[in-house]
Amino acid sequence: SREVRLKSRPSGMPTKSNFEVVEVDIPQPGDGEFLVKNEWMSVDPYMRGRMREGESYVPPFALGKVMDGGCVGRVVESHHPDFSEGDYVLGSAGWRDHWVSQGEGVRKIDVSKVPASSYLSVLGLTGMTAYVGLLKIGALKDGETVFVSAASGAVGSIVCQIAKIKGCRVIASSGSDEKIAWLKDKAGVDAAINYRNVDSISGALEELCPDGIDVYFDNVGGDHLEGAIDHMNDFGRIACCGMISGYNDEHPEPGPANLFKIIGKRLRMQGFIVRDHQDQEENFAREMSEWIQAGDIVWEETVTEGLENSPDAFISLFEGDKMGKALVTI
Ligand code: NDP
Repeated sequence: SREVRLKSRPSGMPTKSNFEVVEVDIPQPGDGEFLVKNEWMSVDPYMRGRMREGESYVPPFALGKVMDGGCVGRVVESHHPDFSEGDYVLGSAGWRDHWVSQGEGVRKIDVSKVPASSYLSVLGLTGMTAYVGLLKIGALKDGETVFVSAASGAVGSIVCQIAKIKGCRVIASSGSDEKIAWLKDKAGVDAAINYRNVDSISGALEELCPDGIDVYFDNVGGDHLEGAIDHMNDFGRIACCGMISGYNDEHPEPGPANLFKIIGKRLRMQGFIVRDHQDQEENFAREMSEWIQAGDIVWEETVTEGLENSPDAFISLFEGDKMGKALVTI
């Protein structure tokens, strides 16, 4: 059995040398416990924060210890009354081949109608982040104009499509022509910006949003946030989901130079963490399943094969050309 440990804390962009793949014994389940063989694991931008020392909203990874994160696996041995051999489960013991649990925080999942991996993407916390962030935090109203950054990513691609379902005009930003083509052809956005090819985000938005922006779903921060603030309509809402452009900075960049505009425009800017909104889970699961069945939501997964390649999959979140949700098959 193998596990991936944090070998050293990155300075700037993470590299493979920050990780170490180690052989360990397969853990043995005792009474009231079960053993899981992982099949899928998730790599997520928030894990970069956990590679730093010091508290963020989740505790940091410990040096020399196995990392963790969302995973889907199959129960291969059980001495627990509620979990049987063959059950598929969703847990948080990623970055390893096997794990033992007493069932706390572990959920059985039904893989008969949807692929197991979707519980780590569209039907999992990723999809729910899009749902809660756009509808509850962004308080989206039908027919508004929405701007979404990192729009071809796991969360962003779902945000774009929920906004289209709600009859909104959607402007998306992403980092390659291939991603822009996907956003227009598959996600159905109304206009898209390849931020690597424009002089400024604000200039591009001026052209594409003549009537302003009502909701900005921020995954990126930095110049995307500054550009959005320039073009927000009065009483607009900014749902602050992530600010990935700064995650590898050793020294945080100064904030948007135009922040004063939130006063005159009476903007509401609100950060949120998806785990605080579990009361939305039932609504989310029901609506998302309906949208998927109706063909209104499509999603992409970029799959990396092999636990040993999980560091590459993680690094690709910051510099790669992955589409949709980044996952690893184990
Ligand atoms: P993504 O699948 O969107 O992957 C990250 C993407 O961000 C990349 O594919 C890349 O796309 C883009 N990106 C990377 N670096 C930069 C940069 N410097 N400037 C602009 N774009 C960049 O990840 P997720 O969908 O999982 O997460 C999206 C955001 O949501 C993250 O900020 C994450 O931290 C946050 N998040 C927050 C949650 C919450 O509860 N608040 C829960 C889940 C995620 P491109 O090629 O377009 O640049």
